[in-house]
Amino acid sequence: MYYNENTIVYHNGEFIKAKDVLISPYNQSLHYGNGVFEGIRAYHTDEGTKVFKAEAHYKRLKYGAKVMSIPFNYSEEELTVITYNLLELNNLKDAYIRPLVTMGEDMGLKTNTESNFTLQCWDWGRYMGDQLLKVKTSRFQRPNPKSCFVEAKVTGHYTNSVLSTNEVKSQGYDEALLLDMNGYVAECSGANVFMEKDNKLYTPPKGNIMPGITRSTIIEMCKEENISVEEKHFTLDELKEADSAFFTGTAAEVVGLQSLDEYVFPMDWNQSLGFQLMKLYKAEVLGLRHKKILATK
Ligand code: PMP
Repeated sequence: MYYNENTIVYHNGEFIKAKDVLISPYNQSLHYGNGVFEGIRAYHTDEGTKVFKAEAHYKRLKYGAKVMSIPFNYSEEELTVITYNLLELNNLKDAYIRPLVTMGEDMGLKTNTESNFTLQCWDWGRYMGDQLLKVKTSRFQRPNPKSCFVEAKVTGHYTNSVLSTNEVKSQGYDEALLLDMNGYVAECSGANVFMEKDNKLYTPPKGNIMPGITRSTIIEMCKEENISVEEKHFTLDELKEADSAFFTGTAAEVVGLQSLDEYVFPMDWNQSLGFQLMKLYKAEVLGLRHKKILATK
């Protein structure tokens, strides 16, 4: 599904076949989760293939490597050039892009001084599909920010996402909603959450969440489009009084919620701010939003 015998990846300075990548069983990240990664999308636009917010994604990757003491010296510009080259080598126009930094061979706990950088890309539809989601509150909380750097995309942090996803999917739900250690709504296992109440949007503030690049794009677009949005803690009970809700993420893009536990969101999704933003986000990634705004002026 992710690659075939002709697929090319970038690995430690070279473009090579995916099937020829060798990762050692003594790789420190495999054992202890001290790797960092990103999830980026490229879109086939009228002006060719465009990697959406490459700089912001590579900044977050470099930040994660820094806080985890992982050696990683590529600049955002170099990484962006490698990404475009890799897309071209694989003849991909619309793609999901996965940079991954892992460690050298070391069974000790102090971060090793060697690292590997692998960049993969493949064709991937919207991660959570196109239907409204049936969501369940997980019994797992998001990691406590005093125990790790929650805002860094560290491989080991994703055991929390795996546990909560397994938990709710095994009960027939589509996705998990997680609370933070104070009991406030935090986010989904791989996306941020927004709720709409009385024509205004609310999303949890930074601090206990992964500050999504899609989340910032949505907030910026709201400001430009005069949609009222506030970053504010809210409880599960408050979310269960919302008119509508949606998740945002690079892989999922913007996707509406049908229900949360027993609560069914009452507003028709097509009438919600989330639906409007889903369409605006699509226009934004395709470079059409400002063109549309200009055309309507
Ligand atoms: N929260 C979590 C836990 C995530 O894994 C992701 C995906 N990176 C997001 C939110 C959304 O982040 P972004 O919009 O940058 O993809």
